[in-house]
Amino acid sequence: MGWKIGIVGAGFSGLITARELERLGHEVEIFEARDRLGGRTWTTTDNSLGYPLEMGGTWVHWMQPYIWAEMQRYEAEMIVSPFVDKAYWFVNNEVRTGTEEELDGKLGEIQAKIFEGSREFFPFPHDPDYILRDPGTPEDVKERYRKADQTPVLAGLDGFSDEERALADSYWRAGYQGSSEKASSLMAKHWAALSDHRLGLLDDQTLRYKLKDGMKGIYDKIAVDVRGPIHLSTPIDAVNHNDDGATLTFADGTTREFDAVVVTIPAGALGNVEFSPGLPSAVQEVVNTK
Ligand SMILES: Cc1cc2nc3c(=O)[nH]c(=O)nc-3n(C[C@H](O)[C@H](O)[C@H](O)COP(=O)(O)OP(=O)(O)OC[C@H]3O[C@@H](n4cnc5c(N)ncnc54)[C@H](O)[C@@H]3O)c2cc1C
Repeated sequence: MGWKIGIVGAGFSGLITARELERLGHEVEIFEARDRLGGRTWTTTDNSLGYPLEMGGTWVHWMQPYIWAEMQRYEAEMIVSPFVDKAYWFVNNEVRTGTEEELDGKLGEIQAKIFEGSREFFPFPHDPDYILRDPGTPEDVKERYRKADQTPVLAGLDGFSDEERALADSYWRAGYQGSSEKASSLMAKHWAALSDHRLGLLDDQTLRYKLKDGMKGIYDKIAVDVRGPIHLSTPIDAVNHNDDGATLTFADGTTREFDAVVVTIPAGALGNVEFSPGLPSAVQEVVNTK
């Protein structure tokens, strides 16, 4: 009770951490590098399209318990994205067209192949590395799990047509927000496990429902519930934990002391911050290989 806690980052994690720590009786202060709240969620309201536009996290679902809890708390309404009458897709630079259902149908078999192993690897989908810790899981299954993690998502699809491969490539590039050549097949299998191993449910969870007032409708309300100050445009350069607590160093070289500091910034931005003592080696490895 009564600790002074500095929180780095005002995305969903930082804002919720602050709100919950205050509920436990602590005093919080948030430091955010950007000039706005929300982090990787960002609903713009000043664009020329004339309606709010999601620039980051968008899709929500009742099978995603944490965001769903926040939606209930702040009475955020969902809307359903429209089904399209006509879909277009590319195969070897040629445009093809059909209904959305036809497009989904073409993805069915190749996705089932990509999802192979999802039940075996993720008996408890909310606990993705459970089998690695489970003494009862045979070693050969653990080995195949590790191998799947190192295997690109589109590997081993030789028997499928160019069209099926092109569609799967688009799907997973969008899903991973990056190259499907570098993306681990394990994540696709994990997404399948979180969706009862069904493509239709995966699509519903990741592409169907959004918020009427956008993500902003939630992150602005969480910020109102945080009583401590939220400093925007205040990047942290260094975090130093010691026996008495923790010191934050700001971009202008000034420092502030806290009883504890919670850092909620993403792996891609951790390299900009100096940590003392250093980050755990596994985290540092991720930072180095980004
Ligand atoms: C394009 C896109 C689409 C997405 N789509 C979905 C979706 O449909 N559904 C879904 O559930 N999720 C989606 N996500 C993921 C979701 O947006 C994120 O998982 C979530 O917003 C992460 O929240 P966070 O608070 O953990 O991190 P962030 O939102 O990244 O917050 C971290 C904050 O730390 C700040 N920061 C960084 N460095 C410093 C520093 N040195 N000092 C101070 N502050 C710093 C950042 O500016 C940021 O505001 C999407 C993400 C993106 C990018």
